[in-house]
Amino acid sequence: MDFIGERLTLPSGVVGGTYVLHPPLIKASKLTNAEKGGVGKELSDGWVINFAIGCTFGCKFCYVDEIHKKFSVRRAGNLVNNPWGNYFSVPENLREVMEKTPWEKWKGQEVMLSSTHDPYLPQLFKWTRMILERALPAGVKFCIQTRSPLVEKDFNLISEYSKQVRLQVSVATMDEKFSRMIEPRVVKPDRRLEILRNANDYGLLTGIIIAPVFPPVKGRPDVKADLESIAAELSGIRPDHIYGESLHVRGINLAYLEEALGEKITLNGFDTECEQLFNQTLKDYNLTGRWWREY
Ligand code: SF4
Repeated sequence: MDFIGERLTLPSGVVGGTYVLHPPLIKASKLTNAEKGGVGKELSDGWVINFAIGCTFGCKFCYVDEIHKKFSVRRAGNLVNNPWGNYFSVPENLREVMEKTPWEKWKGQEVMLSSTHDPYLPQLFKWTRMILERALPAGVKFCIQTRSPLVEKDFNLISEYSKQVRLQVSVATMDEKFSRMIEPRVVKPDRRLEILRNANDYGLLTGIIIAPVFPPVKGRPDVKADLESIAAELSGIRPDHIYGESLHVRGINLAYLEEALGEKITLNGFDTECEQLFNQTLKDYNLTGRWWREY
């Protein structure tokens, strides 16, 4: 296999596989603003790089499982019918696809890395570096989206191209216990904010997506207090971009969550209510951000 010649190490219970990827590595994406024909999320200029089917972080709220269960059976087989977080397929020809990608074609264009998996999973970070080593000198810009401190291994490289890269982390809550319930394989929220502090030391452009913001649940009843805890941290970090989004229902993510939390989750009208709370909280902490409405 082409995957750095190493055996893929997967968390217990995760089923692995391979698939064939077609060049180029950069594909069109709707995760961009409305003016560029997208869904209104400022995550790229309409481009994305994804190079795995599945994500070993397996966050319970993730929106991606639905996409693979609908569209990835042809490429990855029945593997994707396993529960989210418990399947992971990698391209057997990634090196070849990298070589066949005409990187200069996207010079000056921002590409999201990545939208259907974390690019800094322990199984992927070496490949992400190889992608950046090819794309950055060719002038490609990136919005790197991660929950993983492994991105810090690439800070030296990224800082050489600091005007081409926005580094964003996601945090749903500052409540550690609640975080363990909804994203048990990801480092704690504090450590993710630490990534941004460390990135500041390298002079990198940074951002945060506060998402998904949950309605009141037993594990984290006070939405306002939680948002305030995040904002208090951000007032010291001062990221360049702040975005927010409430919990959205996609496929069976609500069922995964209700099982993990042991309670029913009610979302009626929460998106609008939470947008107001988000804007007010940021204002109280002298911060500005943008709320991404449910679409
Ligand atoms: S890290 Fe992102 S892609 Fe991976 S499971 Fe969590 S939300 Fe989904």
